[in-house]
Amino acid sequence: MSLAPGATIGILGGGQLGRMLSVAASRLGYRSHVYEPGDAPAADVAHAHTRAGYEDMAALRAFAGSVDVVTFEFENVPANALDLIGALAPIRPGVEALAVSQDRLTEKTFLEGLGLGVAPFRDIPDLAALRAALDALGTPAILKTRRLGYDGKGQVRIDGPAAARDAFAEMAGADAILEGFVAFEREVSVIAARGPSGEVVCFDPGENVHAGGILRTTTVPAILSASLRTDAALLAGRILNALDYVGVMGVELFVTGNGLVVNEIAPRVHNSGHWTQLGCAVDQFEQHIRAVAGLPLGDGARHADVVMENLIGDDMDRLPDHLAAPGRQVHLYGKAETRAGRKMGHVNRLVGR
Ligand code: AMP
Repeated sequence: MSLAPGATIGILGGGQLGRMLSVAASRLGYRSHVYEPGDAPAADVAHAHTRAGYEDMAALRAFAGSVDVVTFEFENVPANALDLIGALAPIRPGVEALAVSQDRLTEKTFLEGLGLGVAPFRDIPDLAALRAALDALGTPAILKTRRLGYDGKGQVRIDGPAAARDAFAEMAGADAILEGFVAFEREVSVIAARGPSGEVVCFDPGENVHAGGILRTTTVPAILSASLRTDAALLAGRILNALDYVGVMGVELFVTGNGLVVNEIAPRVHNSGHWTQLGCAVDQFEQHIRAVAGLPLGDGARHADVVMENLIGDDMDRLPDHLAAPGRQVHLYGKAETRAGRKMGHVNRLVGR
């Protein structure tokens, strides 16, 4: 069953991803209803905005009752909110994908169970476990909180056993895992989509450059052999099928001498997929809306070489140059205040222009 024009898509989370999902929904004739406790860049372009917390059961009930399907732009939606919503409206992608990706230990265990390469990892309930894990995995290694980490937050690199105590203290009591260090050649990601009847479409892998844990640029095409390109699409398909997934997913990968290692999965549209707005007939946002609305998935073939650059904090000073240059597509998120480390927008640039 596909949603008819005029139907309403509920979006949990009102940041830039929700904003671009709302625009895509409206282009396909749908309305969007954004649920976001705080300021919501998405609310400017949505049909409705519920400004309420995830513990506000009455607001969640009213929201779920007023939409035809619910999706989300971030993976840390509290479980009790999902339970309540799920009883009233379909949630796409499903709750299982959220549960898997909310916890790094569950996520790594799931990926390993599919036979995919992941960094060696250990559960770290206490300092003794950390010492034992450092012994087993060696250094450098990375200690990460199991939950609520993003953009490099909640993680600390450990360069030798002597640093164990301080690193453990930095977790501030949060559950953690230790990951062995992957000596990768480059980081790539594949943005994949799956429809309700199981069809899968992958966008071309992009190469990602991070600074300070935050994505700076994505370049397509990535430098990647044909066989690794195929591997990336096949492994993304395996993940989506195993979760009976509906929607777009971002799969972050390390390219190593021994093939691809999955770093993490994001059960949503992904910053490293923004290049599709300039490089494909159907971008990741439209693809996600098509999937959750039950429409046929679009053509994800790449028709141009593109560099996506995030505009973070002071990068906004270069906005006039971006606007004046040919072959550039500027996306701004409508955030009033520019702050260091804050994603304010992005620029998609045609390579060679
Ligand atoms: P994450 O939040 O897990 O995506 O980590 C942020 C960034 O830290 C990644 O994009 C990598 O550049 C780096 N990183 C994370 N985990 C590892 C690892 N196990 N080995 C090497 N680099 C890593």
